[in-house]
Amino acid sequence: MTSLQEKFDLVRQRIALQCQRSGRDPASVALLAVSKTFPSGAVAQAWAAGQRAFGENYIQEGVDKILACRALGCEGIQWHCIGPIQSNKTRPVATHFDWVHTVDRLKIAQRLSEQRPPEMGLLQVCIQVNIDGGANKAGVAPADALALARQVAALPGLRLRGLMAIPEPAPDYAAAVAVHQAAKALWDALRADGLDLDTLSLGMSADLEAAIAAGSTLVRVGSALFGDR
Ligand SMILES: *Cc1c(COP(=O)(O)O)cnc(C)c1O
Repeated sequence: MTSLQEKFDLVRQRIALQCQRSGRDPASVALLAVSKTFPSGAVAQAWAAGQRAFGENYIQEGVDKILACRALGCEGIQWHCIGPIQSNKTRPVATHFDWVHTVDRLKIAQRLSEQRPPEMGLLQVCIQVNIDGGANKAGVAPADALALARQVAALPGLRLRGLMAIPEPAPDYAAAVAVHQAAKALWDALRADGLDLDTLSLGMSADLEAAIAAGSTLVRVGSALFGDR
């Protein structure tokens, strides 16, 4: 059995090695630990090992875990909502999470902005882009991303930080890099338009190397840290 600490060490080594290969500073890639389906005790263990950013997909599960971890005394955690949000589920997201990676339409962004309690500070958001055009996939079409980003950036309760994408598994490493590069190119285009973005949320357990090669600034890693779900 590999301990949680060893798994975190291994993933941090993978990130550092790939940064070195890509000529990037390892400090330029954040590790988001995706704790979905794992209990608050697993988060508390990871917290004890120094991890502070956690991602949850299912809103109610996430809220329960946020409260449980607070009760356990795990302070200073940054909670990221990385799952789909229906418009009737925006309030628990706005009132409990620090970040949302999955904004893909204006209506959701407007509700999150209106429902954000001022004392919590701005909700940090990424726009999810359907970068490879999967028919049934979440995310705004790349061609519509700039218009949505401008609208989201203007909302008072939110701070737009960047883009997020979940490409389909690619047949090989080069293809994986190419699809992540498409997301990076879109991010660059938004920045060139004047949007103040610093986050490109790309890469998971299986494809974090390709994502880092393409320019990811935040990898969302679940199974490589906590085990299979
Ligand atoms: C589950 C999930 C992850 C983590 O996936 P792993 O393959 O377990 O690393 C990352 N991002 C999103 C959006 C997810 O739903």
